[in-house]
Amino acid sequence: MSYLQRAQELYEQMVQDRRCLHQRPEVGMDLPETTEYVRKRLTEMGYQPQQLGQGITATATGTPHGKVFLLRADMDALPMKEKSGLPFASQRNCAHTCGHDMHTAMLLGAAQMLKEREHELNGTVKFMFQPGEEVLSGAKSMVEAGILEHPHVDAAMGAHMIPGIPVGLGGYGMGVVSASSDHLVIRIEGKGGHGAHPHTTVDPINIGVHIHLALQALICREVDPADAAVLTFGKFQGGEAANIIPSAVVMEGTLRTFNEELRARLLARIEAVCTHTAEAFRGSAQVTTLGSVCALAVDEETARSVTEGWRQEGLNMLQRGDKMSGSEDFAEVAAKVPSTFFVVGGGTAEDGCGVGLHSPEIRFREEALIYGAAAYASGAAAWLREH
Ligand SMILES: [Zn+2]
Ligand SMILES: [Zn+2]
Repeated sequence: MSYLQRAQELYEQMVQDRRCLHQRPEVGMDLPETTEYVRKRLTEMGYQPQQLGQGITATATGTPHGKVFLLRADMDALPMKEKSGLPFASQRNCAHTCGHDMHTAMLLGAAQMLKEREHELNGTVKFMFQPGEEVLSGAKSMVEAGILEHPHVDAAMGAHMIPGIPVGLGGYGMGVVSASSDHLVIRIEGKGGHGAHPHTTVDPINIGVHIHLALQALICREVDPADAAVLTFGKFQGGEAANIIPSAVVMEGTLRTFNEELRARLLARIEAVCTHTAEAFRGSAQVTTLGSVCALAVDEETARSVTEGWRQEGLNMLQRGDKMSGSEDFAEVAAKVPSTFFVVGGGTAEDGCGVGLHSPEIRFREEALIYGAAAYASGAAAWLREH
């Protein structure tokens, strides 16, 4: 029986897992109910799951001393109210609007299939169920906790649901497929006072406005037109009243690039522009980075080996060339070991699944679980067969 056929048989169980997780979403790095659920399900399958950092790991081994292929799913939700209208919608102040409940359920399905065929595996499959993808800390913290060692990981694969693509179809890219992301906080200090006496103050709003304009000029004057970079400030806060000059202003934004050299250069230039612009107007500015992740690069050989396995399974995966300006913290794994990444079609607009990720109304067709689970399991098995 193929992995795809077996995934079809496991559909009801994966739906049950998905809905259970969907109803009880948790945000950030600390996911006690979710990790307990995953730990319990893996134990039922015959695994000996371990807590690693704030995530869960387990292994399936056929040939001992063979190579190790890592499969990763993220488990965290977003701090927003769900408006999907689904009978199993979250009643909490957080919701699985990025589909990480689907990722966890499909990797549980893959784990079940790989356990059933463990003796056939030419090596080891290691599972990584991570927290904190949305806060860009989960993968990094599990790498620091040692997920890539004991046993040492030779290659890895991650996945993400994508709405707007028919169920049964998926895609993968080559080279850099998602952007780096740096969450920047700029605190500008001035000297507050009466709005009628600006000369006795140092106006941080004035400084903030000049900093904002100067930073946008970095993007259009210092980035090679063949490269791409985005610098958005979604938060600009300061002041209480029309006639009071405040003493400080805070700006928060995000820098996205597809190139580590450019990213490092822009981060240095942002710091310099903020400091010098603030000084020019007699104030000061301090730049800090709250969360960051590098760009996600797909390794060609790993992608080829995995997709060959999919072809043998009859899985319909298209190569998509487009980069996403979104970020993906699996990049922290891909920066350390050769990796590939695939997207799973979650249904089209005609299916009622046309709304984008992070939207409160997002829905997925649950049949996508079958294809995601089969892609994870058959991809890992095929890579091990070849290496
Ligand atoms: Zn997301
Ligand atoms: Zn996501």
